[in-house]
Amino acid sequence: MSTSTIHTRLDAVRQSLPDGVGLVAVSKFHPVKALREAYAAGQRLFGESRVQELTAKVAELGNDSYRWHFIGHLQTNKVRQLIKLRPAMIESVDSVRLLEEIDREAARQGVVQPVLMQLHVAREETKFGFLPEELLDWFEARRYESLTATHICGVMGMASNTDDTARIEADFKAIRATYDKICANAPDLRGFTTVSMGMSDDYPLAVACGSTLVRVGSAIFGPRDY
Ligand SMILES: *Cc1c(COP(=O)(O)O)cnc(C)c1O
Repeated sequence: MSTSTIHTRLDAVRQSLPDGVGLVAVSKFHPVKALREAYAAGQRLFGESRVQELTAKVAELGNDSYRWHFIGHLQTNKVRQLIKLRPAMIESVDSVRLLEEIDREAARQGVVQPVLMQLHVAREETKFGFLPEELLDWFEARRYESLTATHICGVMGMASNTDDTARIEADFKAIRATYDKICANAPDLRGFTTVSMGMSDDYPLAVACGSTLVRVGSAIFGPRDY
């Protein structure tokens, strides 16, 4: 996609977002050149879903001016490599085992790793994440208090992959409602402020349902070449 197209599309997405809603430009599968173009158009926050690809992009672009959110399924054996890249956020914490591994590894590397807890509300077998009840129980049991090097900043989720707008809206509302319940049950949680939901096809609806951070890829960078 040409420079002017990325710039124009990025501006259009930004202009449609209310104040207080952040934008992760999901750059997975797109070349560094495309990221530089988005950066030149003012974008600083990028989303990647594979540790290998993020490693290559951080090697070229750094992790200071460019900030990175990891949004893909993460295997525990990749946690060390990922935390070394100093991602601004790991959005896709989908199990207690993974969270514990992140906490251990962040402590070992002497950093505090910001994370989001991934919720599974979509009607699909293949999606990762905590069920709302499961996550509520986990917070209610105050299990987060045993973490020493992880900052839980909120939740992330995806809606069902469907054309059924009512279904998508129900999913987003379920994500937001779970977040609100956690806030009510654990008012001492600090900086638990992020509700990451909404992608290219559904982000306006996600924002209407209470998203504070959208993850938009193809609407900015065009289709991906898998
Ligand atoms: C790829 C991806 C996105 C962006 O998807 P688009 O439809 O291209 O906007 C958002 N979130 C996650 C978790 C993804 O894997």
